[in-house]
Amino acid sequence: MARILITSAIPYINGIKHLGNLVGSQLPADLFARYMRARGHEVMFICATDEHGTPAELAAAKAGKPVDEFCAEMHAVQKDIADGFRLSFDHFGRSSSPRNHRLTQHFAGALAENGFIEEVSEKQVFSIADNRFLPDRYIEGTCPNCGYDKARGDQCENCTKQLDPTDLINPRSAISGSTELEVRETKHLYLKQRSLRADLEAWIDSKTDWPVLTTSIAKKWLNDGDGLQDRGITRDLHWGVPVKKGDQPWPGMEGKVFYVWFDAPIEYIAATAEWADAHGKADADWERWWRTDKGAEDVRYVQFMGKDNVPFHTLSFPATIMGSREPWKLVDYIKSFNYLNYDGGQFSTSQGRGVFMDQALSILPADYWRWWLLSHAPENSDSEFTWENFQTSVNKDLADVLGNLVSRVTKFCRSKFGETVPAGGEFGPREAALIAELQGRLDAYSACMEAMEVRKAAIELRGIWVAGNEYLQAAAPWTVVKTDPEQAAAMIRLALNLIRVYAVISQPFIPDAAASMMAGMGTEDWSWPEDIASALQVLPVGHAFSVPEVLFRKITDEERAEWQQRFSGVRA
Ligand SMILES: [Zn+2]
Repeated sequence: MARILITSAIPYINGIKHLGNLVGSQLPADLFARYMRARGHEVMFICATDEHGTPAELAAAKAGKPVDEFCAEMHAVQKDIADGFRLSFDHFGRSSSPRNHRLTQHFAGALAENGFIEEVSEKQVFSIADNRFLPDRYIEGTCPNCGYDKARGDQCENCTKQLDPTDLINPRSAISGSTELEVRETKHLYLKQRSLRADLEAWIDSKTDWPVLTTSIAKKWLNDGDGLQDRGITRDLHWGVPVKKGDQPWPGMEGKVFYVWFDAPIEYIAATAEWADAHGKADADWERWWRTDKGAEDVRYVQFMGKDNVPFHTLSFPATIMGSREPWKLVDYIKSFNYLNYDGGQFSTSQGRGVFMDQALSILPADYWRWWLLSHAPENSDSEFTWENFQTSVNKDLADVLGNLVSRVTKFCRSKFGETVPAGGEFGPREAALIAELQGRLDAYSACMEAMEVRKAAIELRGIWVAGNEYLQAAAPWTVVKTDPEQAAAMIRLALNLIRVYAVISQPFIPDAAASMMAGMGTEDWSWPEDIASALQVLPVGHAFSVPEVLFRKITDEERAEWQQRFSGVRA
């Protein structure tokens, strides 16, 4: 039995995520966690909400709520939706937790002690009316290049020119509109990533099994242009982790907080500590996942994320850990994803284009989405959601192939032999051929799941479902029963056992349907079918079963057209 630590990139607190966000980290991480648990490994699966920074402050202000209250509410909303999608986190934490405050301050203190923090004085725009420094993108004004009057302090959207806030003509606060702005001097902490460049490069070079998508992005940031840059890790904001050197004050940094990108990945560790707290466990229970001096040297740590998050996870967060010179667990494998596009364009949170997680669950159960998203995961290139493809995939794979097999077998058995596994007959060459085929496909499926090849795993799983259907089609117990009921009984005995096997192996993809199949088969035996031949004898003759409810319904053309229209833009 292995110990596997799995983290999914943590979603930002501000608003509900769309399906592209879901398939880019949380859902494939869940697939992997479920599979590893099913194989008997010890798994710690961690996610959280990323709660600090200006966007959270502004969203709270817009909602007319204190930012801590807003974040608590949005965390509960995101937690509910995650539960709805059956995301099996061991803990869904919060980056605003006291655990993360302490740990973030601890890392900053250790980095400072080891000489990896530099204090830098810079000039920044201060808004007197808002009583705060303004990040570049919260300053608006007229573009000196094209005259566009809503240019932002970092870039003009109209002519794409990169700007400094001081370039803008008639600058004003994007928060209040106030023009009472002045440039003030402020001090910030920088993480000296350049001093850790050699450590980082050696570490990345040692990861020969990482996907090309991951290493190429990391290498680009290490080497392109002037190479890896030092990075500001503090901000002049109110909402965040107050800057401290460990548990001591940091002179000159009063009233400042750590930048959200510094504290967010540390939350992976802190959330595991939150898990221990929530379950009344000792520090040793979470430290054995994270401290290589306290039991984590045999842990395999896998991270899941969209490609835009790769630089922070291959460079910034490892720099934090390495620079602490403390024995924290570094990631062993990074599984990164491209983007999912939506029906000929992009998902857009601001325009409400595409399907958001709450909307998805309001029209169909989680398994329908899980199956489509995972079987079309944007692994080697971007992929695209279309309603036609979604309808075809659900109707064919889930309803026609899997659902139909379960319904046909159980109903046929009930009518001919009663609601127990029938006795009589023996397996012949046709059954032997099926068993051989299933064994080969199952081995391939397991290999894909181990390797986190999500789409290929889905193809193998579908192949296993199809093989069962083709067997039944060819064996035709509904015909055989008229002339040789014993032989038909043997076929159905095999098929009922196959339903249990399908429940076990399909569970990582479609957990609710798997639970209904298993309940229908009247067993709680979730043991993995290492050996198909013996797995097909787990339900003995005389074992009682029941006919499950319809597992998957078909999506009609009318529904498809209606949904296509409904999600084409502007979320209500
Ligand atoms: Zn411009």
